[in-house]
Amino acid sequence: SLSERLGGVFDRLRGRGALSENDVRAALREVRIALLEADVALPVVRDFVEQVTEAAIGQAVLRSITPGQQVVKIVSDALTAMLGSEAVDLQLDVTPPAVVMMVGLQGSGKTTTTAKIARRLREKGRKKVLMASLDVNRPAAQEQLAVLGVQAEVATLPIVPGQQPVDIARRALSAAKLQGFDVLMLDTAGRLHVDQALMDEMKAVASVSEPDEILLVVDSLTGQDAVNVATSFAGQVSLTGVVLTRMDGDARGGAALSMRAVTGKPIKFVGTGEKLDGLELFQPARVAGRILGMGDVVSLVERAAETIKQEDAEKLADRLAKGKFDLNDLRSQLTQMRKMGGLGALASMLPGIAKVKNAMASNAVDDKILIRMDAIISSMTKAERARPEILSAKRKIRVAKGSGTTVQEVNKILKMHQEMATMMKRMKKMGGLKGLGALFG
Ligand code: GDP
Ligand code: MG
Repeated sequence: SLSERLGGVFDRLRGRGALSENDVRAALREVRIALLEADVALPVVRDFVEQVTEAAIGQAVLRSITPGQQVVKIVSDALTAMLGSEAVDLQLDVTPPAVVMMVGLQGSGKTTTTAKIARRLREKGRKKVLMASLDVNRPAAQEQLAVLGVQAEVATLPIVPGQQPVDIARRALSAAKLQGFDVLMLDTAGRLHVDQALMDEMKAVASVSEPDEILLVVDSLTGQDAVNVATSFAGQVSLTGVVLTRMDGDARGGAALSMRAVTGKPIKFVGTGEKLDGLELFQPARVAGRILGMGDVVSLVERAAETIKQEDAEKLADRLAKGKFDLNDLRSQLTQMRKMGGLGALASMLPGIAKVKNAMASNAVDDKILIRMDAIISSMTKAERARPEILSAKRKIRVAKGSGTTVQEVNKILKMHQEMATMMKRMKKMGGLKGLGALFG
């Protein structure tokens, strides 16, 4: 991950005061690769990296995190800010009917997203919604929307064969007015590539229906082409926002950054599945983490500071300093880890623990297991928790029964506890404990 690679870049300079130009440039080379791997368009990457480099040089390294994490945080903050900082919902506070027009390339997910948004407006916004398909190019496109309308329990405009898009838009608008709909959603025909005849049609529809929202629907797998798509649509109609579909797949979401940079308009929703409930408000911080391939580092660091109280950290540090780390300590660590979003999250955040994280991952420790671990430790007596070595085979069977687990699982925890105790001792030797305490404070 980016965090790990940056850890490598910065290993040399632990403990120095400020981020130097050379170090920042070295780190930003890794960031550049991460962005390109996430499919952010090249010109956008260039601008972004330049901007962040300027901002990062000379910043003091926070005591509580490593320089690598510091750069990740700067990058992630900048990325989040650029993506829009906060989720932006549709602005439909107008004299009804509010008109929402969907545009985009063919196959980007316009029709599906039209139905998803309509369903969301009906359920969450308690709006009366009418949908109309203006797609007379693709066979059965209008029927597709009608079928989705039934699933979404949203009305669709009756189909009149042979009618052209601009006329359908007019008819839809007057039906919406006459029948008291709050929102009219217009699903337009797609374009395989940017085609002037269809662009003209889109402009004509926009001018008769005067949409309050024009949403550009983009497949999140759109790579370097994202800039061209955004530029040509934005040049023809005044977009109010973007919807990024297929974020349920492998896409790292780089298209979000490209879209935002080129259109200057907020990403409003992400599509997260083929079904009609697969729609979420766009969360910039989450997508920034996904683009960088490292989860939400910033909020983790913040949560760490909030969750773990100074005294707990000091108590633990005290025990560690005495070379003690028993199962009571492990249990309170587990509880804190769970509060902070799980083991993987915590391990990836702690300075220098990437190795341990990998070791844990290979033991397939996930959050469900954290809960089982807690159950196992709770089934031990106080004496057993303080001195695990007294756990005989017989005692282990009792603990397994008491916690609804198996002796193997009990053994696994004991082994993990041993590994952690060893690791803690090693960290203490390296002087890493102070850093740990500071992070928790
Ligand atoms: P249009 O040509 O732009 O109207 O695209 P459609 O709405 O017909 O969607 C094309 C295909 O993409 C369909 O098979 C949809 O089920 C699928 N699709 C749309 N949005 C999503 C999404 O968010 N996730 C996934 N996995 N599939 C999607
Ligand atoms: Mg369609």
